[in-house]
Amino acid sequence: MTKTIYDVVILGTGPSGLQAAIHAARAKASVLILGRKHKSSLYGTHIENYCCLSKVSGEELLRQGIRQALNSGAHFLDEDAIKTTQQADWFIISTESGHSIKSRALIMAMGVTRNRLGVPGEKSFIGKGVSYCVDCDANFYKGAKVAIVGNESAAVSGALTLLFYADQVHLVSDQLQVSDQLDYQIRKSEVILHSGRKVKEIIGKETVKGIILDDDQRLNIDGIFIETGAKGAIELAALLGVELDTDKFKYIITDKQQQTNIQGIYASGDICGPPFQMAKAVGEGCVAGLSAATYAKKFK
Ligand SMILES: Cc1cc2nc3c(=O)[nH]c(=O)nc-3n(C[C@H](O)[C@H](O)[C@H](O)COP(=O)(O)OP(=O)(O)OC[C@H]3O[C@@H](n4cnc5c(N)ncnc54)[C@H](O)[C@@H]3O)c2cc1C
Repeated sequence: MTKTIYDVVILGTGPSGLQAAIHAARAKASVLILGRKHKSSLYGTHIENYCCLSKVSGEELLRQGIRQALNSGAHFLDEDAIKTTQQADWFIISTESGHSIKSRALIMAMGVTRNRLGVPGEKSFIGKGVSYCVDCDANFYKGAKVAIVGNESAAVSGALTLLFYADQVHLVSDQLQVSDQLDYQIRKSEVILHSGRKVKEIIGKETVKGIILDDDQRLNIDGIFIETGAKGAIELAALLGVELDTDKFKYIITDKQQQTNIQGIYASGDICGPPFQMAKAVGEGCVAGLSAATYAKKFK
């Protein structure tokens, strides 16, 4: 890597960062994208709810996105940023292998990591009955029996959504913490509520066949949705003083131009909060890329 000064540096090689790179580079800003494609949430998935594309693998989408970004003129570095600081009108980005890069604008598109339950069976059945996204996967469970695990509104809303697809929906929650309205809705619905219970184990053969609760009750189900929240890689943002949501301090707050409270720093995609969907990540990435390029070009 020879060049160390850019108009725009983008942290994240997922769909949001790549879309930002394509738009910023085509707006004639010099652009560097940092990050590892296999760490994107998209890697290893199949997407079938993205407009104008039929079922396609996330790995293929990422490969094409990187090629498009490179063809648009962006540079790419396959490593993570470990530190970001601000010096006057420059951001300084330090990478894992010791590169120090200067940039006028910074786009944070580092995604989120879904919280795991950490119970036996969870890891081995991912994609075979274990899902972390109702919006993405509910369609696969038409007429099936499913469970959803979680304590917050995402789990309750997910359970209510699943009622439109599945024949039977269980909600396992050890400590439900939702608004009175959602609490009323869930208790009035056909969702079978297992209050004060935890999942102890996920069982099956090729695919999920059931779960065991902590009172040893077995529920025979075809799929389990884990809605126990997600965590953004927000440490880099927090160190720069970027404003986070006041509720959980997990997501970056932006305005409609994807600008954060710090001039020159933009954010897009999952790191800005739910819904965790490629369509949202790409749309926000487009806006962030254009905004960052416009900002950076003021210095020329
Ligand atoms: C199992 C599963 C199934 C899904 N199915 C669907 C679906 O059917 N439809 C749909 O629309 N969405 C689906 N999603 C969600 C979709 O994948 C995400 O919404 C989308 O990938 C978010 O894009 P992003 O660019 O914001 O983040 P990501 O794609 O997660 O990319 C984040 C990037 O940031 C990088 N990064 C992190 N830290 C650093 C750092 N310090 N420095 C540099 N880079 C960093 C990572 O390496 C990664 O490249 C699914 C997700 C999962 C997990």
